[in-house]
Amino acid sequence: MDLNSLLTNELQLGEFQKRALNNIGIKTVKDLLWHFPNRYEKFAAASAIADLIGGTSATISGKILKTKIERTWRKKMTIAEALLSDGTGEINLVWFHQPYIAKMLKVEDAVAVTGKIQKNKKGLYIANPVYEKINPDAIKIDRGLIPIYPETRGLSSRWFRFAIRKILKKILEESGNLEDAIPDFILSRYHLPSLKTALVCIHAPKKLKDAEASRKRFAFEEVFAIQLYRIKQRMQYDKQPCFTIKTEQKSIEEFLSHFSFGLTNAQKEAVNRILADFQKKSPMARLLEGDVGSGKTVVAAAAVFATVKAGHQIAYMAPTEVLARQHFKTFTEYFKPFGKKIGLVTSSECLKFPSKVNPGKATHISKSQLLKWVASGEIPILIGTHSLIQEKVKFKNLAFVIIDEQHRFGTNQRQKLAKKSVAPHLLSMTATPIPRTLALTVYGDLDLTLLDEMPPERKSIITEIVPPTQRQRAYEFIREEIKGEHQAYVICPRIAEKTDSKSLISLTMKSVKSEYEKLSKKIFPEYKVAMIHGQMPAKEKEKIMNEFRDGKTKILVATSVIEVGVDVPNATAIIIEGAERFGLAQLHQLRGRVMRSCHQSHCFVFTESNSQKALSRLKFLKEAKNGFELAEYDLKFRGSGELAGKKQWGISDVGMEALKNLKMVEAARTEAQNILASDPELISYPLLAEKLSSQNSEIHFE
Ligand code: ADP
Ligand code: MG
Repeated sequence: MDLNSLLTNELQLGEFQKRALNNIGIKTVKDLLWHFPNRYEKFAAASAIADLIGGTSATISGKILKTKIERTWRKKMTIAEALLSDGTGEINLVWFHQPYIAKMLKVEDAVAVTGKIQKNKKGLYIANPVYEKINPDAIKIDRGLIPIYPETRGLSSRWFRFAIRKILKKILEESGNLEDAIPDFILSRYHLPSLKTALVCIHAPKKLKDAEASRKRFAFEEVFAIQLYRIKQRMQYDKQPCFTIKTEQKSIEEFLSHFSFGLTNAQKEAVNRILADFQKKSPMARLLEGDVGSGKTVVAAAAVFATVKAGHQIAYMAPTEVLARQHFKTFTEYFKPFGKKIGLVTSSECLKFPSKVNPGKATHISKSQLLKWVASGEIPILIGTHSLIQEKVKFKNLAFVIIDEQHRFGTNQRQKLAKKSVAPHLLSMTATPIPRTLALTVYGDLDLTLLDEMPPERKSIITEIVPPTQRQRAYEFIREEIKGEHQAYVICPRIAEKTDSKSLISLTMKSVKSEYEKLSKKIFPEYKVAMIHGQMPAKEKEKIMNEFRDGKTKILVATSVIEVGVDVPNATAIIIEGAERFGLAQLHQLRGRVMRSCHQSHCFVFTESNSQKALSRLKFLKEAKNGFELAEYDLKFRGSGELAGKKQWGISDVGMEALKNLKMVEAARTEAQNILASDPELISYPLLAEKLSSQNSEIHFE
């Protein structure tokens, strides 16, 4: 049997199962075998039902006395029930959403069952127990470890267990060995099991230790493959010709002397690194990672200055229009004394600075005119949203590309932009602090520079988790801040109330529109309150941002559109509604909006959730002083089982486990580098080459 053969050729599958498998992307034998258990349960020797105590876990065995299926009217849920007796007593087994179980279990069947014993009015029961039909004589026999698989609608863990066991058996009988993509010398160097052993041990372990060793192998394999892919990409990138940008230290110093502040040491170092990269024969590919407010824009501006001074063009890409416009504004200030022309291109408008009529201001121009000037080199600095990567945008001599808040862009977008001309030097910037292991892996093709120092005199933010009863007090605090000439944000998880939904969540989830109504009319009628969200026309958004920036608007109610990069130093307080709905990194970004000056800033975190998990996460936000701690926390708790991490980084749950292990990630990187250094085309490693060609190059963020 070929690992790549279709499951439909190997298993008898009903239409429903085919569809269910398709939905979770399982098509081939390999896909199925790589559907790993997320835990194991032990069928211990059985307990007597009469001895069971609510709240404990137990394994029991006995005979089915009764089965029934019920549909609840309220939640449209099917409940399958079975009554089990072992002669000492009886207990109810209950399965939710699994009507077929009641069909498969017949009265008189002997089964072994394991699960948590619970109690309700009717007595003891087990909800969603793991069960196995057994020979009536086999009652009370130790059955070893049972793999529990992530389930999907229509495919139970049990189904996976049997299907996988069948396929695995067939494969092992047919072929003595399985070809392993990881070279032998690497397996033995790190004591990793072979593919065959690992597959058997992950699906049918005798001991937990064997299963763990297998997971480790698969984790290594995944990280190793990503590293190979990224390093190979970098090697190809390095081969491209690029512009060498010569800089005179003196002119950079002159540029920086126009700022009202001096650079921090971290900023100086970052600028020097970039300028050194500019001198090299291969294009720069650098990630500038610095907490919100650490001053990445200034670093970028210095590098931009060096580029245009040398007669080249630069493109600066931001993830949102609000942010692109803000950078445009900032840059017009920075570059005014040097007479450099700057263009802004977004999907809704184009601007050019300076205007012919009014040299202190920017002016609207047509897109075609702007593009003409960019193509002729007349405009050396072009700022924009992803419209920048449209084919239509042509440059004369694009030498440098900056991608702000780069975690918002997929890696393909990054590559597309990089393909624009002779390879431009590439600077990616992010405020999302990434654990080192993750940076080495998903950004394995980038060099890393940290801005690990905040501008001086920044006070650290005070974060408070506000219980519903204290809401008024938080509002009074904001009122005092505004009286002291400051401003505030109120962030809500959604734009409008959903009126058509019956779900409870929508009733308690705060929306921008309803909070705006409430705050402007009832709570703060004496101040100008405004709202901003992604569904507004760009013009209107700009007007609202300008009025907030100018201090006319005191309170801005917003969705997380203001999350990235918005810079209004006079805003000193932020309220975050429904905080449990945001990721920790995102919450940190949000509170970063008010950590931009030397004033003491405050963040009030409101939550509707009482869950212990949500509260301890928020508590961690309160205590964590920098984003790196938050990133490590997210990694630790999102790691296994949860889809969130997967979605963000395109790494499987097993791969995520590797990211908790710096040694393993470094080992994978070293091995990948060594292999590619001696055999760049992977000619001696055909399986690895095949793996790379199927590696999905697009990693999706958020
Ligand atoms: P981020 O790294 O989040 O993009 P910004 O570049 O927007 O941060 O900078 C945040 C604020 O800090 C801006 O108002 C900027 O002018 C200011 N700033 C940057 N560097 C310094 C510095 N070395 N000293 C004082 N203020 C600075
Ligand atoms: Mg920024």
